[in-house]
Amino acid sequence: MGRLEGRVAFVTGAGRGIGRATAERFAREGARVCLTDMDGEVAASAAAQLVDEGADVFAAKVDVTSRTEVEEAVRKAVDRYGRLDILVNNAGITRDNLIFRMSDDEWRSVLNVHLVGGFFCARAAQKHMVENEYGRIVNVSSVSALGNRGQSNYSAAKAGIQGFTKTLAIELGRYGVTVNSVAPGFIETEMTRETAARLGVDFEDMVASAVEDIPAGRSGKPNDVAAAILFFASEEASFVNGQVLYVAGGPKD
Ligand code: NAP
Repeated sequence: MGRLEGRVAFVTGAGRGIGRATAERFAREGARVCLTDMDGEVAASAAAQLVDEGADVFAAKVDVTSRTEVEEAVRKAVDRYGRLDILVNNAGITRDNLIFRMSDDEWRSVLNVHLVGGFFCARAAQKHMVENEYGRIVNVSSVSALGNRGQSNYSAAKAGIQGFTKTLAIELGRYGVTVNSVAPGFIETEMTRETAARLGVDFEDMVASAVEDIPAGRSGKPNDVAAAILFFASEEASFVNGQVLYVAGGPKD
């Protein structure tokens, strides 16, 4: 029997990378999953692969910065499965620049996706969780929350997610809803590939240079993060609330 048997999960940014790995892990652990992504087609193809494996999942096109799209998809998941137990706020973008070059749009778009998006999803999901007196919310932060050159927008958003996590943990804990955060280090995904391409650096060189600073001696993979998210999402994590787990191959903070 899977660790999420009977549970219903909603994952944002599930079309690729960490979100997709998380949705796959959840489905293989017995959860029914709503895979959402801004790109409806990638979400649909990730969901189709899981359906082929026999999982009960579906895809929805959701831009997390759209309150109406978020609320409609949460409603769809609850209509279809009768409940909502787990939310993973994973959707994310980077728009890196040094502060003197950072545009209003770069600043706003990053805060909008991570913070406004996370807020829209958590507010819509918690209603069903509180009614049911059970819930797990996992927010994806980053080691960049601790500061990273060229990422003042992203770092502010990811640090904000940690404060958001702790506050929701305090507000929702009494209703059986836990709220925790994972903060990944360097993970091999399209996001880091795109950063390498933007900097004109070969991706393998970027990985090798990142690994030099990682005590575990390797780079992270989406499944490393999915495993940590699974722990917070599981039943046995019921007394772990308001925590930030760095998934970075070494100590942080
Ligand atoms: P990724 O491969 O770029 O995947 C991010 C996903 O989020 C994409 O599918 C993207 O959709 C989706 N997305 C972007 N904006 C969205 C929006 N407004 N609404 C809904 N979906 C949206 O990145 P990843 O590396 O898997 O990152 C996942 C999370 O981990 C992010 O929160 C990221 O900040 C965090 N993280 C990553 C790393 C790392 O090293 N990779 C480290 C620390 C934290 P499209 O495909 O349409 O763009």
